[in-house]
Formats: sequence, structure tokens, C-alpha cells
Amino acid sequence: MKFLCLIGDGMADFPLSERGGRTPLQLASTPAMDALASEGLCGLYWPIPEDLPPGSDIGNLSLFGYDPHETFTGRAPLEAANQGIALGPGDVAFRCNLVTLQDGVMKSFTSDHISSEEAAELIRSLDGACPRACAFYPGVSYRHLAVIPGSEVKPDALVETACTPPHDISDQTYEPHLPTGPAGAYLRDLMEWSRPILAAHPVNAARIAAGQLPATSIWMWGQGRAPRMATYRDRFGVTGAVISAVDLVKGIGVCAGLDVIKVPGATGYIDTNYEGKVEAALRALETVDFVYVHVEAPDECAHEGIIDKKIQAIEDFDRRVVAPCLTAARSHADWRVLVAPDHVTALGSRTHAGGPVPFALWGCGVASNGVSQYDEASAAAGGLVVNPGHLLVPGMLGPGRLDAHTFRNP
Ligand SMILES: [Zn+2]
Repeated sequence: MKFLCLIGDGMADFPLSERGGRTPLQLASTPAMDALASEGLCGLYWPIPEDLPPGSDIGNLSLFGYDPHETFTGRAPLEAANQGIALGPGDVAFRCNLVTLQDGVMKSFTSDHISSEEAAELIRSLDGACPRACAFYPGVSYRHLAVIPGSEVKPDALVETACTPPHDISDQTYEPHLPTGPAGAYLRDLMEWSRPILAAHPVNAARIAAGQLPATSIWMWGQGRAPRMATYRDRFGVTGAVISAVDLVKGIGVCAGLDVIKVPGATGYIDTNYEGKVEAALRALETVDFVYVHVEAPDECAHEGIIDKKIQAIEDFDRRVVAPCLTAARSHADWRVLVAPDHVTALGSRTHAGGPVPFALWGCGVASNGVSQYDEASAAAGGLVVNPGHLLVPGMLGPGRLDAHTFRNP
């Protein structure tokens, strides 16, 4: 059997009062996802356990079929795995965003979607100038890493320090959200240290001249030690690949022993190379059993708080990713396709939320449960609920017929 997971990051949302109480998934035209829902199983799934924060890290680990309680140590260690950065036993990896802080406010947690090339120059200049034993590694766009060795700060102190994801405080006063706890002062000093170096950098001068926001500071968060995860081959006996623009998702793939396929033009934004991702996924399925395609755009558009842009991202995902994959899958009797988001990203609050999201599972041996559309309300009305704490993908990868009873109380 072949398995294709199509993940629209943050697609799920709450009813929008300004749009007649409908959600973006209800407002968007999504014929391909509707077909998956009506011909297959459509229900609600809790990617985020109720006691954990609603991040893409937790949500994607769940969707990959790993219990976040057992495997999650932090977002940054997963991204470090993707970058081939080996973490020693005393090392703690951090996400190090390049952000725009203006007038005491988190103006942009993406530095206006700074390009990877510009960002790499800034991160390298920080790494070269850093007086401490902290190392900086450039990533994609605004998403970078820092590794602090145990010789510099006790790992437990770093892990126990409370750090706020910068995308949770868009346009808010950032001061109350600076790191607090045992290593809070160290991290605050590091962030403060970055500011004059970034302010003086020619990359930022050029961005300001071009009317773009400069990257004014690093923002440290998402820290943790190296995770321990069993590979897909060991757990499920399948081979696989992951396709994503996002280091975190690719890092989970690395830890799961999956191939990470690079697709040129995959940006993690609404302008991503959808066709290239689909082509790479279908090609990979010729040789591996499982492919996980992750599309970040709906999440990013929800963080921007622009309703029509999120709807557009969902429609693009449906038309340019789900539809061609479904067309390909229809000519194979032994394929299964799953569509789901990794969490809710609410346009109203411009941030992630826990709770259930709709999923649709279609294909070989999958019975229909009579839901006609792919959205939050339709999935809820169908009555199929994968209970919080239960995982979806291990069921999908299982043999035999899959119906509403397979998932109800496994
Ligand atoms: Zn996400």
C-alpha cells in the first residue's frame, strides 16, 4: 500500500462573525477535499493534546504518528536535526527568529518575510561577533537556530526558562514576553546584544531603502535537548519521505528516518511551488511507501489576520496540491490519502489554538461515513471523533478495512 499525507498547516479556524459565522474552510471552494471527505472518512481529530501548547511542532509530531508526550523536547532540536546539527548531551538548541521590534512592539515576527539570503548574512555576522559560546546557524527566511553548550549555561536552566513564540505576540508590547526564569537574564542579554549589530548591518540599510522592515533583533524560543524517536521503518515497517519548506517538519522527518526531499521554490508562503511539491511527492511514491507533504501558507495567512488571503491559501492548496494528488491516486487501487491541518490557526486572534480539526481519509479499504464536505462543522456533524490522545496515522498505516469504528476508541 502507498500512503500520502497532505497537510494544510493551520487550515482549521473558528466561525467568523463578519462572514456569517462561517469558517475559512467553509468559505473556500475546495472540491478536491470535499471529494476525499464524501468518498472516505471525515471526522474530527485532536492533533494537540489538551495539556500541551498548540504549536506546529506538537501538531505535526501527532500527525506523523508520534505521541508528543513521549517524543517532544522542543521545536528547535527538531529543526537542528533537519540542518544536520548534532546536539551533544549538554547542548540546548533554540529557535532564533529574526524579528522587527519597533516602538516597544513586536512589529513583525518574520522581519517582513526576509529572504533566506539576506537573513543568512545577518546570522553569520552575529555568529562571527558573538562573545559567548553560543553558535548561530542560518535557516529559511526568518527561522534560524542557536545552540548553547552546557559549558556556557546549565542545560536545565535553559530548558526551564519560559520563552514566548514571537508569532503569539504580533503587534503587542513585547517587554512582558521576554524570557523569564533561571536563564532569562542570559537570553535577554543575548537578544539585546544582537540589536546594535543588526542595526549597523548593510543588509538592513538596503531593506529600509527598499521600503521593507529591517530585522532589528533576534528572538530566542522553542528550546530543548535532542529528541529520541523510533524510525518509521522500525515502528511501522514502511519507508517514506517528507516534503516541506519548514525546517521543523523536515526535522521530524529526519528523526523519523524519512528522506527529506528538497523542492526548489518551496517558500513556506502563499507563493510556494505547489506543483513542484506534488511532482516530487508522486515521484517519491514510486520508490517509498509513505509521503508527507506539508504546506505552510494557510497558517502564515491566518497569522497575518487577512481572511481573504487565508481563503486563497486554502483554495490554492485544494486546487494545486490535493486535486492533482487525488487524480493520481484514483489510478491506483492501493493508495490512501489523508488531508488534515496540524492545529487551528485563528484569524481572530492571529495565533494557534488547540481543540479538534477536521480530517479526511480516503482510498484503499476506507469506507465512507457519509460526510459530504470538508470543513469543521461537517466533520463534527458526521460524529466520527478520534479522541484526544489517540493517533490517526498509525491507524491509516494499518492493514485491512478502515471505517468509523477503527478510530472511535482504538
Ligand atoms: Zn502549524
